[in-house]
Amino acid sequence: MRAVGHVSGERVPVREDLAAVVPYGAPQLDVPVRLNTNETAEPPPAAFLEELARRLPELALNRYPDRDALALRDAIALRLGWAREGVWVANGSNEILLQLLLAYGGPGRRVLVTRPGYSMYPELARTTSTSLVAVDLEADGTLAPEVARAAVERHDPDIVLVASPNNPIGTLVPHEAVRSMHDASRALVVIDEAYVEFAPEGSSVLELLDTCPRLVVSRTFSKAFRLAGLRLGYLAARPWVVDDLQRVRLPYHLDALTQLAGLVALGMEDAFLDHRATVVAERERVRAALEARGDLEVAPSSANFLLLRSERP
Ligand code: PMP
Repeated sequence: MRAVGHVSGERVPVREDLAAVVPYGAPQLDVPVRLNTNETAEPPPAAFLEELARRLPELALNRYPDRDALALRDAIALRLGWAREGVWVANGSNEILLQLLLAYGGPGRRVLVTRPGYSMYPELARTTSTSLVAVDLEADGTLAPEVARAAVERHDPDIVLVASPNNPIGTLVPHEAVRSMHDASRALVVIDEAYVEFAPEGSSVLELLDTCPRLVVSRTFSKAFRLAGLRLGYLAARPWVVDDLQRVRLPYHLDALTQLAGLVALGMEDAFLDHRATVVAERERVRAALEARGDLEVAPSSANFLLLRSERP
């Protein structure tokens, strides 16, 4: 074998801004209690796999899937009470967010995130060569409407990208803060509701879509729907957003099996979500017990995880 580097130009240098990048991803460990990726521990209902297996022969895998995923988007639209033209689907909400940054970010454009915030946002910004600016949350994890407004006025972002409930804290962003960021900016305001099904009723900002034309609500099947292995996420927004995402999506980006599985899951939504009450009750029980120790600070959470702070190293 020749020594590496012997032939000049044997390796193509990666983009300069990627050279020091370590691939993103939490460790995937084979341990009895896996907490680090905020999945649901329980598998999907057995009836789901049975129904999916029954319907597999419907798939014409020699053909490309429906490029526009119309049946699945119709089912999601019905669930949300929003028009199909304003619903889009992709491989997990991460791909939804990537497509949004590809379409509305890019060189010379800025995305505003919260600090702390979901650790994938800086990665998406870097991949799409979008500048990252941040607004600090209060010590208790909240975002006051005046602080939110001041941040968009100062940074003039093209995109605002905020998770509610927040990852890693679990706190919700108040509706007034979302409205402030929308009304005081020209930005696309993306609220990432990956964990919203674990939050109290009325927490979602879907109801603001009518009055906030630049609002985008992003959701996923990975958390409360217990289908992280499927890779299915979606958004609700004005139809022009969906039209713009068509410009950056790969053709046939969402495979036929995922489209069918999403449809089947939505057909039995109640069975999928019936574990939520248990997760929320357990979250509160564990939080109270951890707090009672006296040596940990435990933030109140509206998600399916808790953030702990300890004085001890
Ligand atoms: N948003 C937030 C806040 C998350 O925590 C996650 C997953 N950790 C995602 C989006 C992405 O989830 P997925 O791509 O599985 O839909």
